[in-house]
Amino acid sequence: MAELTLDNVTKVFDDNGSDIVAVDDVSIDIADGEFLVLVGPSGCGKSTTLRMIAGLETISGGEIRLDGDVVNGKPPRDRDIAMVFQSYALYPHMTVKQNMSFGLEESTDMSDGEISSLVTETAEMLSISPLLERKPGELSGGQQQRVALGRAIVRDPKVFLMDEPLSNLDAKLRSQMRTELQRLQEDLGVTTVYVTHDQTEAMTMGDRIAILNDGVLQQVATPLEAYHQPANLFVAGFVGEPSMNFFEMEVRDGRLVGDQFDYPLSEETLAAVGDADRVTLGIRPEDVQLVDEGSGDHDFGTVVDVVEPMGNENNVYLGFATDGPADFVATIDGMRTLEAGQPVVARIPESAIHLFDTETGAALR
Ligand code: ATP
Repeated sequence: MAELTLDNVTKVFDDNGSDIVAVDDVSIDIADGEFLVLVGPSGCGKSTTLRMIAGLETISGGEIRLDGDVVNGKPPRDRDIAMVFQSYALYPHMTVKQNMSFGLEESTDMSDGEISSLVTETAEMLSISPLLERKPGELSGGQQQRVALGRAIVRDPKVFLMDEPLSNLDAKLRSQMRTELQRLQEDLGVTTVYVTHDQTEAMTMGDRIAILNDGVLQQVATPLEAYHQPANLFVAGFVGEPSMNFFEMEVRDGRLVGDQFDYPLSEETLAAVGDADRVTLGIRPEDVQLVDEGSGDHDFGTVVDVVEPMGNENNVYLGFATDGPADFVATIDGMRTLEAGQPVVARIPESAIHLFDTETGAALR
């Protein structure tokens, strides 16, 4: 069992007399064996949160509990947690084998033989057996990353903490390691908190993702929930690539009135809008349909500005004015060809729209 609980956790740094609230009252319950991804833009407080869990940073307020025990005051070595860093943090003068066994020699009463067989077994699991006698300087980035993982795995900790562990790898290796890491975590069943600013990593790896902005937790949800039911404007814009399209609208006489278009709403959607005066209409690029002829209130004449071919899909940037810049993007089948300057009707189906209170950012539906 390794349940990890963050209960109103806060971190305030003192920056020459003024307070920086890096983590603001964050509460998350992480289940035994769960893979939780902590994601958000640079400076949102991800690393600070992870470092507080590890014990590398003091906690200004709240509690961190591991299996119900408060660990706030415990030094890192007593927390039964292993951390994998972006920089790998391997000892350059030690061999791979020594790097992996060092922690065990220091902190356990395992015999040399037991340590050696554990290291051998783990090296096999990570396909780094031929590298055991090499030093980190003689390894590629991907191999160093595996050694860093191996060093964490041999310790058999209650929790893995990973801080952008794949960010120094090239794109191909990164996607390969992504699936490998996931499989490994599932096999080992160790509760894992994984920090990244990369929403693709978050979406593909996490059982759940916790999205932070400015130290404030925005939503904790499965990747699909965050994608389809974002809690607010921030999450809606952060999750998904290309980002959700947003249009600021006024609510007037049962319709949304915007600078570029008006959008009538059904009774049901109007009920969700409630008494908000200004709403932001959101539509995912893949939910915009490009049709030959307009036939309804949710069809709009647009002009193709730029087509970005992605292979299986095309991202089509569209403008409402003939000569203006693009106002939004539609993702369509890669086989469908469109030319810059071509007029096209964009359909924004009501069933696919998201609505947010423009003032608070909260999702209305
Ligand atoms: P990145 O993705 O760029 O690593 P992050 O989300 O991990 O960012 P943190 O490193 O946790 O963000 O930083 C959160 C905030 O706390 C930032 O505003 C940062 O400048 C501030 N901060 C971090 N460490 C300190 C410190 N030791 N002293 C003062 N401010 C700090």
